[in-house]
Amino acid sequence: MIYLFYKVDQTLLYPIPYLEANYLVDMENQRKKGEDTLSFPGIKKRKSFSPLTNKKSAVEQKNFRLSDAFFKQLVDSLEDYCVFTTDIEGIISSWNSGAQKLLGYSEKEIIGKNAEIIFTPEDRKLKTPQLELNEAKSKGRGLNERWHVRKNKTRFWGSGLVFPLKDENKKLQGFTKIMRDLTERKNYISELETEKKKLINIFENAPAFFVIFRGKDHVFEIVNNAYYQLVGDRDLIGKPLIKAIPEVKGQGIIEALNHVLNTGKMMRGNEIAGKVQCIAGGPLEEKFVNFIYQPLTNHKGSIEGVIAHGYDVTEQVLARREVEETGNRFHTLVDNIPNLVWMADESGSIFWYNSGWYRYTGTTSEQMEGWGWQSVHDPNTLPEVLVKWRLSIASGEPFEMVFPLKGADGVFRPFLTRVIPIQDNEGKIFRWFGTNTDITKQKELERLKDDFLGMTSHELKTPVTVIKAYAQLLEDFFRSKGDNEAADRCSKMHIQVNKLTGLIEDLLDVTKIQSGKMNFNNTYFDFNELVKEVLEQLSSIAPNHRIEVHFHKTKKVFADRKRLRQVVTNFITNAIKYSPHADKIILKTKAAKADITLSVRDFGMGISKDNQENVFEKFYRVTGNQKNTFPGLGLGLYISAEIIKCMGGKIWVESKEGQGSIFYFAIPTVEDKKGE
Ligand code: ADP
Repeated sequence: MIYLFYKVDQTLLYPIPYLEANYLVDMENQRKKGEDTLSFPGIKKRKSFSPLTNKKSAVEQKNFRLSDAFFKQLVDSLEDYCVFTTDIEGIISSWNSGAQKLLGYSEKEIIGKNAEIIFTPEDRKLKTPQLELNEAKSKGRGLNERWHVRKNKTRFWGSGLVFPLKDENKKLQGFTKIMRDLTERKNYISELETEKKKLINIFENAPAFFVIFRGKDHVFEIVNNAYYQLVGDRDLIGKPLIKAIPEVKGQGIIEALNHVLNTGKMMRGNEIAGKVQCIAGGPLEEKFVNFIYQPLTNHKGSIEGVIAHGYDVTEQVLARREVEETGNRFHTLVDNIPNLVWMADESGSIFWYNSGWYRYTGTTSEQMEGWGWQSVHDPNTLPEVLVKWRLSIASGEPFEMVFPLKGADGVFRPFLTRVIPIQDNEGKIFRWFGTNTDITKQKELERLKDDFLGMTSHELKTPVTVIKAYAQLLEDFFRSKGDNEAADRCSKMHIQVNKLTGLIEDLLDVTKIQSGKMNFNNTYFDFNELVKEVLEQLSSIAPNHRIEVHFHKTKKVFADRKRLRQVVTNFITNAIKYSPHADKIILKTKAAKADITLSVRDFGMGISKDNQENVFEKFYRVTGNQKNTFPGLGLGLYISAEIIKCMGGKIWVESKEGQGSIFYFAIPTVEDKKGE
C-alpha cells in the first residue's frame, strides 16, 4: 500500500495539482478515520519523495515538489491509471503515460482534441461526455463505469472518476479524469451473472422440487416450478404452509417440519402419500413423494427454517401398483386354471411353474429348476420331446405335442403341450410360455368313439358283404333271364354297396391304426405294374379326365401290395374329385438310389398353405361352403399317411390354392432277394 502524498499546498497553476488536491482531501479524511487510503498498485514505491527521509535541504525539496516536472513525473508514474485533464469545454489539455497505454493515443496527438473521442458513439449520442462533466461540476466528483473506445476502435470497460479543477479563486478551470481498465473484471462479473442465471434456471426447472420454509410457521421463502407442479398453481411465497396449502392439516407434514426445526435432525421419506388440491376448488388428489427435510441454519448455527427437496413419484407408484395388480390377477388366474403353466427363458430353461404343475407332479421348485422337468417324463417319449423342443428353440417356432407326464401318484397321463414364443419390441424371443393340458378324458372319449366305430363297422361289414353278394347274384339272375333293365338296377345297387364297403373298410382301417393292429403282407413286385393296375381299374370312373403318365424305370419294392394300391387309388381319386373343372392329371414315378417316388398332379382347387399340414389328419375335410360338394369322410389321406409311415416312407403335398396340388409319397426300395 503506498500513500502518494500527505498534503499539497502549492498554487494551482498546473492542472495536475488540482486533481491531487481533491484526491488528497479524501485521502486525508480517510487517513484520519483510520481507513486505508486509495492505493495505486502500478506505482513504484519512491522513498525519496518522503519529506522525512530526503537528505536534501528542505527548501530544495519544497521547490522540487512545487515544480511541473515533479507532478508530471508523478502522474506519468501512474502507469496503470489513465489520467488526463480537459478544459471546461472538455478539450484535452494533459495526458499521462497510463492514458497513452490504455487508449493508444500519444500525448502529442491527443492534446487539443475533445475528450468525447474516447466515448462510444452510443454515449456520444446520449451526450454522456457532457453529462459526466456536469455531474463532476455540480457534485464535486463524478463516478462512472462505462465502455470506452481506444484509438484502434477496440472497446474496454473503464471505471473512473472525474473531478472539477478550480483555481485559487475557486473558479472552474477544467476537469481531470482518472480511469482504469476493468474489462477483465467486467467480463468476470458478467460470466458470474450468466452462471448465476444458469443456476437459477436449473433450480427453477429441476425435476426435483425444492422449497425453503422459514420460521416456525414454515413460511414459503423459495419455491421452484416442480413444487408448483406438485401442489398446483397457487400463491405461496411469503405465506405460512398451513395458510397456503390448508389441506396439509392432519397429514403429518407440519409435524415433520416442526420435528426438523426443533431437533435439527434431517428427515427422509420414501413414497409418502399425501392429498393435495391441485386445481383450486377441485378434488383432493393422491400424490406420492420421496423427500428430504433438512434444517436451514444461519451463520451462527441456529436453525431458521427447513429446506425440503424431493421428487413426485406418483406416476411410478401408480404404474408399479398397476403392474403388481396385473401380476396378482395373472397369478390368481394361472394358479386356478386346470392347466399346468410354465415359463422358460430364451434358451428354453424353465424358471417358473404355476402351482397346478407342482400339485400335479408333486415336485418342488428346486427339483424342477432349469431342465429338471425331464424327471416327470416317460423315458420312452422323452428323446422325441427333447428333439422337438430343441428344434423349436433353435427355429423360434411354436411347439405342440402330446406326451405323458407322471403325476404325484406315479401314474402317467397324456398331456397336450403347447408352447409359444414371446417376443420383445425388436422381435427377439425372450420367453417361452407353455401349457400342459391333461387330455386323459378326451383320449378316453376318443377310445370309446374308436371302439364304437370299430364295433359298428365290424358289425356292418358282414351284412353289407352279404347284400353285395346277393346284388351280384340278382344281377346275374336277371341278365340270364334277359331282363336287362332289372339287371342294370342291380348293377347300380352293386356300385353303391361297393362304396359302402369302401367306407366301412376305411373305418375299420382307422380302428386298426388306432389299436396298432394294421397288418402288412409284404411281397416283391414291380411298382410301375401296380400303378398301371390301379389306372386300369379307375379308367371308367374318370371319363372327363385324361391321366398323363410318366413312368421312370423303377426297381421292385418289398411291400404290402394291397395297402400300396390303396394309397395310389386315394391319390388319383382325390385328384379327380378335387379338380372338377379340369381335365388333366399328371402321374409320375421316379426311382432314386434308395427309394421310389410317386406324384399325382391335378389342376383343381388346390389347398391353402394353412390347411396343407392338416390334410393328413384323421377326419380332416374341406371346410367352408364346399364342404358338402365333395363326398367323403376325411380318412383317405390319414390312412395313406399311416400306411406310408409304416413302410418307412414319406408323404407330402405341394399346392397352391386355386391352381392345383401335387401329392407325393416316397417309399424305400430294397434289393430283390428272390432275384425276380
Ligand atoms: P376325403 O377326400 O374323403 O375328404 P381325404 O383324407 O382323402 O378325405 O382328404 C382329406 C381332405 O384333403 C379333403 O377333404 C380335401 O379337403 C383335401 N384334399 C385331398 N386331396 C386333394 C386334392 N387333390 N386337391 C385339393 N384338396 C384335396
